This record gives sequence, C-alpha cells and structure tokens, in this order.
Amino acid sequence: MTLSHESKSVKCATSSFTKRKNSLFSPPELYLPGTQCALRSQVSLASLTSFRVGGPAEWYVAPRCIEDLQASYQWARSEGLSLTLLGAGSNLLVSDCGLPGLVLGTRHLRHTKFDPETGRVTVGTGEPIARLAWQAAERGWQGMEWAVGIPGTIGGAVVMNAGAHQSCTANILVEVQVLCADGTTQTLTPQDLGFSYRSSLLQGDSRLVTQATFQLQPGADPVQVLATTTNHLEQRKRSQPYHLPSCGSVFRNPTPHPAAWLIEQIGLKGYTIGGAQVAERHANFILNCGGAKASDIFQIIRHVQQQVEQHWSLSLETEVKILGDFQLA
Ligand SMILES: Cc1cc2nc3c(=O)[nH]c(=O)nc-3n(C[C@H](O)[C@H](O)[C@H](O)COP(=O)(O)OP(=O)(O)OC[C@H]3O[C@@H](n4cnc5c(N)ncnc54)[C@H](O)[C@@H]3O)c2cc1C
Repeated sequence: MTLSHESKSVKCATSSFTKRKNSLFSPPELYLPGTQCALRSQVSLASLTSFRVGGPAEWYVAPRCIEDLQASYQWARSEGLSLTLLGAGSNLLVSDCGLPGLVLGTRHLRHTKFDPETGRVTVGTGEPIARLAWQAAERGWQGMEWAVGIPGTIGGAVVMNAGAHQSCTANILVEVQVLCADGTTQTLTPQDLGFSYRSSLLQGDSRLVTQATFQLQPGADPVQVLATTTNHLEQRKRSQPYHLPSCGSVFRNPTPHPAAWLIEQIGLKGYTIGGAQVAERHANFILNCGGAKASDIFQIIRHVQQQVEQHWSLSLETEVKILGDFQLA
C-alpha cells in the first residue's frame, strides 16, 4: 500500500464483493464479505472537509467498528490502492480533481471511557476532540479546556499534535493504539511519536490511530472548568473567523513573529482569488467565501508564500495538508 496518490485501477467486479448498486444512474457500492462496510465510489470530499472544496474520492469508506476498519484497510492493501486517512477533514485541502484510491474516514469510530480511579480517558479515534473537552469539563476534569475550539477528531489531533492556548495533545497523551499496514496493532507512547509543534512521526505514515488515552485531573469544580472552557471558546470566536469554511491556520507559525502578523504587515488581508479570501479577522486563515475552488485556495497559499519570501526572506510552511494533484486542476 502507498500513501502517494498514484492512481491504480480497482478490480471491483471480483466475486468476493457483494454489489448493492451498479446501475447507469448510481455509482457502484460494494460490501466487503462479513462486514457492514459500504465502499462507495466517486464520493464528494467537499462535504467531508471543513474548507468545503475538493473533488471526489475514487473510493470512500467510513467503518463503524474496528473489524470493518481492518477489513477496509486490508482491501486497499490487497488491491494496491493508495490510502488517505480522513478524520473530520479540518486540516485538509483536497484538489478539485479529487483523490485516487481509498479514502478511509474515521468519523464513526467513536467511544469514550472515563476512569475515575486513574483520571484517564480512553477515546475512539473518530470522537470530536471538542466534544471530549466539554465532557471532561462537565465532570470537573481539568486538562482539555484548550481543545474546545478545535473541530477535528482525536486521531487528527494526535497526528497533528493539535494545540491551542499554550497547550497541545502531546502534553496530555499517555498512549495510542495504531493499526499498521500489515494488519497488526501497536501501542505507542508519546516518546515513540516524536512530537513537536503541530507535528508527529505519524504524519505521512500509513499507521492509523484507532484509539488514544489521555491523562486528565479529576476532582475540580465543574462550574470552574466549564467557565474556563467557555472563555477559551469565546476568545477564539472573537479573534478567529468561525462563520465561514476554512482549515483554521493555514501556515505554521515561524519565530519570532506569527504567520498572521507577517501576512497582515504586507497588506494581504482581504486578498481574494475566485471565492477564496485571506480573512480580515485573522490573516492566517483563508476563507471559502462561497463557491471557492480548491485551486483558488491553493493559488492564494502560493501567492502568500511568495510575498512573505520577498518581503521577509522567510519561507512559510503550510500547516494544512495539501492532497491530490493541483497541476491538473
Ligand atoms: C475553524 C478551525 C479552527 C482550528 N483551530 C485549530 C487550533 O486551534 N489548533 C490546531 O492545532 N488546529 C486547529 N485547526 C486545524 C484542525 O482542526 C486540526 O489540525 C485537527 O487536529 C485535525 O483533525 P481532523 O480529524 O480534522 O484531521 P484531518 O484534517 O482529517 O487530517 C489531518 C491529518 O491527519 C491524518 N489523520 C486523520 N485521522 C487519522 C487517524 N485516525 N490516523 C492516522 N492519521 C490520521 C490525515 O491523513 C491528515 O494527514 C482548526 C481548524 C479549523 C477549521
């Protein structure tokens, strides 16, 4: 299996599949034997990513249990298909051409178990991290107040080392379970994951996070923890544009000045291509103001990088993961 986006033909008519739909009017939908897993072809990724842009996945599946996840993963491997792992799609820019191979969505893989003895919480990969932050706050467990404004899943947060308000996923992570390309599972500690700012060794890796365990601090007053959590959310809504589709911060922050400051200083707030615009409220956000194409956003990213390079002699790196072909789009 490969994580590149090299297109391969899919042997979808093999006898090992149950074919549920395959008329002229509806794209094929296949079921892997012994699973409830519908593999659907030509599924729009615009509706599955927070930018609301991007073409279709050649194949898409969103398993509801680990066994179906393993079966889908092995199917992609046996067919020699490229594999793209998709959480909430809140840090992705997908090409208007879409993605070849199998896009494996984790959003239905959800479970949460709080252990009051240890103060640890074990969570399925598809659980929204913001929802977990609210659940912890309601119990008076401290440690996740920072995560409330992040619209991603637990798996995406681990891989991206998502963070805010001077904290991040690595600070509270105890261990993760991953599914490897050969079908085996591993338990990894933060030391194994090489965490740094918005980065982990799992980026660009074929291992799939299935579950994570975090260490929190139970026993605080829920009213207090809820108040801090609410304050964090309100602070973010005041300073960041949550009202239009985006991926949050597009660029990683260099030192000493944050990317937003560098972009704002050279007058790029409001810079527009097609339906995409550098946000007026926060210059490190690019917004889909309506009808944007992925190529509009991509062109703005390149323009901002060129201008920042020219004015500040700095190369801005993207935090957003850019997937698929942008030359053909
Ligand atoms: C309005 C807004 C505000 C945001 N604010 C913040 C913020 O404050 N701080 C911050 O850090 N980020 C922020 N983000 C970005 C984004 O929410 C985070 O990066 C988040 O952690 C991504 O999670 P996801 O589930 O959406 O991952 P996706 O975007 O789906 O995927 C991100 C990467 O992780 C991989 N991946 C996803 N799930 C798995 C898995 N289970 N196993 C292995 N690989 C996987 C994908 O292949 C991809 O490479 C914001 C985004 C938006 C839209």
